[in-house]
Amino acid sequence: MRPPPLPESSPGPAGPPVFPTDATAPAALPAAGRTGHVWLVGAGPGDPDLITVRGLRALQAADVVFHDSLAAPGLLEHCRPDALRISVGKRAGRHSVPQADIHLLLAAHARAGLTVVRLKGGDPFIFGRGGEEMESLRAQGIPVTIVPGVTAASGCAAATGIPLTHRDLAAGVCLMTAHRQDGAHDLDWTSLAANRQRTLVFYMGLSQAGHVGTELMLHGLPGATPAALISQGATPRQKAVRCTLAGLARAARDGGLASPCLIVIGEVVTLADPALAPWVEAPLACPA
Ligand code: SAH
Repeated sequence: MRPPPLPESSPGPAGPPVFPTDATAPAALPAAGRTGHVWLVGAGPGDPDLITVRGLRALQAADVVFHDSLAAPGLLEHCRPDALRISVGKRAGRHSVPQADIHLLLAAHARAGLTVVRLKGGDPFIFGRGGEEMESLRAQGIPVTIVPGVTAASGCAAATGIPLTHRDLAAGVCLMTAHRQDGAHDLDWTSLAANRQRTLVFYMGLSQAGHVGTELMLHGLPGATPAALISQGATPRQKAVRCTLAGLARAARDGGLASPCLIVIGEVVTLADPALAPWVEAPLACPA
């Protein structure tokens, strides 16, 4: 089914920008006679060019854009000059806006008749809490459309020349989070370690890399399995470290890597293209 057509540019909100300290009620925004709409747009990872054409069009049409810290700042240059741009992500010295407040903000601005873009890093439905935002908007009767994005696994794989699947090396790929909501590590390590036909990709894993490596080895994945850490992938600051599963903890600790960072584990890592990404080869074999 086709998504609804993008709106014509609306006259846009008047008055000064609204920032999310007290913006759950859009007092500064005009009451509008039309129903607003929320677009959950995937920005892609790192490079602003990785947004989709549909995502870019939504951004250009938006009256108000709520963006998180993973969305490339350069994308905001495509907004209308009069569009409100509101950061709801973590920034230096400032906490992110609580998720419940984001739900209220999106709904309140849509109820005011505005075209709202929620710009999220990567794909909105992969570890981006896009599902929660969609559910909340649906429950409040606000029309919502999802615009998919290139997820970090695909973006980092392309930027480093690691094919996530390969006829000879990996029959599938498994996207996991290393960071559970409650801080507990109740992943099914047995099944993760047992299936050697697939590539494992861990999101949100920099601080958990040692734990991921240890659990997978304890559950039978060989310590010599190739692994990689890709930090700030698809940006000019990208740093990629290649190691083994046994060396993952040390590579994460000593590799000088910054967030956001992705862990890729599997034979496909051996195909990484050094011409695409200057790889740091981490010291091998660091038995935990
Ligand atoms: N919705 C996003 C993921 C959000 S969770 C997506 O589809 O990509 C945040 C995690 O994504 C980070 O902790 C990191 O593991 C990963 N990530 C996002 N952007 C990244 C990038 N440019 N380089 C490496 N990892 C990235």
